Amino acid sequence: MEKLKHKYIFVIGGVLSGVGKGITTASLGNIFKSKGFKVTAIKADPYINVDAGTMNPVEHGEVFVTDDGDETDQDMGNYERFLDVNLSSTNYMTTGRVYTTVIENERSMKYKGKCVQVVPHIPEEIIKRIEKAAENNDAEITLIEIGGTVGEYENILFLEAARMMKMKDASSVAFVLVSYLPVPAHLGEMKTKPTQHAARALSSAGINADMIIARGEQKLDKPRREKLAVFCGVNHENIISAPDVSSIYEIPLTLEQQDIGNKLLKVLDILPRKSKMNEWKKFVARNNKVEKTVKIAVIGKYFGTGDYTLADSYVSVIEATKHAALYNGAKPILEWVDSEEFEHNPIKLKQLEKYDGIIVPGGFGSRGVEGIIKAIELARKKKIPYFGLCYGMQLATVEFVRNVVGKKDATTVEINTDAKEPVIHINPNQAKNVKENRYGGTMRLGAYDCILEKDSLVYKAYEKRTISERHRHRYEFNDDYRKLIDKAGLKVVGVNPESNLVEIVELKNHPFFVGVQFHPEFKSRPMIPHPLFREFVTAALRNKK
Ligand code: GLN
Repeated sequence: MEKLKHKYIFVIGGVLSGVGKGITTASLGNIFKSKGFKVTAIKADPYINVDAGTMNPVEHGEVFVTDDGDETDQDMGNYERFLDVNLSSTNYMTTGRVYTTVIENERSMKYKGKCVQVVPHIPEEIIKRIEKAAENNDAEITLIEIGGTVGEYENILFLEAARMMKMKDASSVAFVLVSYLPVPAHLGEMKTKPTQHAARALSSAGINADMIIARGEQKLDKPRREKLAVFCGVNHENIISAPDVSSIYEIPLTLEQQDIGNKLLKVLDILPRKSKMNEWKKFVARNNKVEKTVKIAVIGKYFGTGDYTLADSYVSVIEATKHAALYNGAKPILEWVDSEEFEHNPIKLKQLEKYDGIIVPGGFGSRGVEGIIKAIELARKKKIPYFGLCYGMQLATVEFVRNVVGKKDATTVEINTDAKEPVIHINPNQAKNVKENRYGGTMRLGAYDCILEKDSLVYKAYEKRTISERHRHRYEFNDDYRKLIDKAGLKVVGVNPESNLVEIVELKNHPFFVGVQFHPEFKSRPMIPHPLFREFVTAALRNKK
């Protein structure tokens, strides 16, 4: 049988979701990169959705956009941040995407009259995609995170693909089970049984874990390590403890302290190598020492219930703010404010004045919009540093046209299709998409160039004229209002060179009031904060209450 050309590590979840499989995958990538390997990471999502763009962020978390305009899972953002690479559409797949290709191939006679079956044709397509990602990224090691948890019905075909690859070339494929070990409060003792069941469920899919990463509130002790080794059939050295830590950026260090990299290299028949994690270590150490804080209000509506959900809907905004704050020697205290509260409660609105800075992140639809506009008005008048991302830029222009230019009917056609003053409007192509319910993958997506005005705050931040940033929106600033806002002091300081679309506005005589049509948060990296987040946090610190 033909051998595999690259090395692959599958990361599979056990017991329950949300235990940090994505961060673990990203951390492994970070470790191998520090050992000098070319690494890439793939997310395989078991959903029928073709991409994450049609999923509600409260249920599924942030939609992460790649340079080439794919709407992917938030874990892709973790990979980009931990690996310091730009990934593309080849690094992401869903069940929907895999099936679509197989069905299209069948329709065009690519299977030459064969009966097309779930097995082997679906796993074969999955393998093709995995190998293509390795090839395209020229990766020596490819990490593949399989979404969901072992034992679920819906990810079984991804596991089957992994098993088939192992059968083909055992020394080129490794399996890592990231599993949860609960410590029930009434027992006060870590329990291994759920993980034993997860390992068994994995075996019944024909896969034996080469390594178990034991996630839990506490460290794994020796007796439990032995127990897992015996009952899960994994070499006890390959049982790695991954207790909760205060910052996700510590995880590569916690794992590598246990020599996880070389242990996996051994499974893959590669000689051990030293990891060079000094810079990362310094970064984490600096992180842990920071005492100064900066208090930022994030105003939106995808907060759902509980911390877990809200953090997930805006994960890149949170991380970008962290990177920028740390660069400024501070840590951010982000508070989530539901914009609907401002619509009827002026006291709540006034409370916003206590923040050092205000962010309005991306959003859709009409709920909460009037509250957001009130908050933007307050930031403008009270000179509180304001950073508007996508919807936050659009609504800042609406607020300005209403309250400074004096056109009270100003709005976005997203909330009123017959708007008298459509400051934010829609082009005919996009209007057609909406009319015909063609929502999937049809927004303005991915990286576009933008030319900056030299005499601007944003130019000073980026220190260059041409920038490239990622987009995800359907509506645009209406050029008919350009002169009006400019004359009144809201300057257009960034424009797309091909389409002339307005991409950045910035207010004169304000410490920091910037609205961007794109999503800068996607390009921030732990040690290279995004220039605009950096300047926003600097301004917020200057405004510290
Ligand atoms: N709802 C707006 C649009 O579609 C903004 C989108 C966003 O904030 N990502 O244009």
